[in-house]
Amino acid sequence: MEFRYCPKCAAPLVVGPVGGKDREQCRGCGFVAFHNPAPVGLAVIEHRERLVLIRRALDPLAGYWAPPGGYVELGESVPEAVVREAREECGLDIALDGLAGVHSHPEVRVVLITFHAHSTGGEPLAGDDATGVGLFARGELPLQPPPAAGTTTDRWLHAAISELLAPWSGAAPRGAPAPGSPGTTR
Ligand SMILES: [Zn+2]
Repeated sequence: MEFRYCPKCAAPLVVGPVGGKDREQCRGCGFVAFHNPAPVGLAVIEHRERLVLIRRALDPLAGYWAPPGGYVELGESVPEAVVREAREECGLDIALDGLAGVHSHPEVRVVLITFHAHSTGGEPLAGDDATGVGLFARGELPLQPPPAAGTTTDRWLHAAISELLAPWSGAAPRGAPAPGSPGTTR
């Protein structure tokens, strides 16, 4: 049970079926607690032909290299959140180049919405949620084995990040466009 008291009227909540599922609900005011995953925006950023990753300071996956990103807040769109987070977490101004992927899991509290992006200004600098910023050439990504004793969220996030970074994991085929920029010029 996530909530014990009604956030609207402070009466104790009871659990019972609403819409075919057991949910916390308030007999006083009718409040029902729906638990929805929160959207998180990420950016796979190219900066001077390098991939920009931050070293995560916090769990899940503390110590791992990952694309910068964070929670989308009311008052901004998902792309706006991605641009804001990039500036906060790695010091770069970015332009988005299209959707890289959407990742979710039934047991995980977030939905990842990831964009390809390229830098338009700024210098790489780690923000509060990162212990460092790294620039990685194609084929020279850090080796990151799956967390040995991780939670479902850890393992899912690791798999999602590995998939998102896969275009950077090997040498580029001759004549292939950079990931996220098919047919575009920088
Ligand atoms: Zn209530």
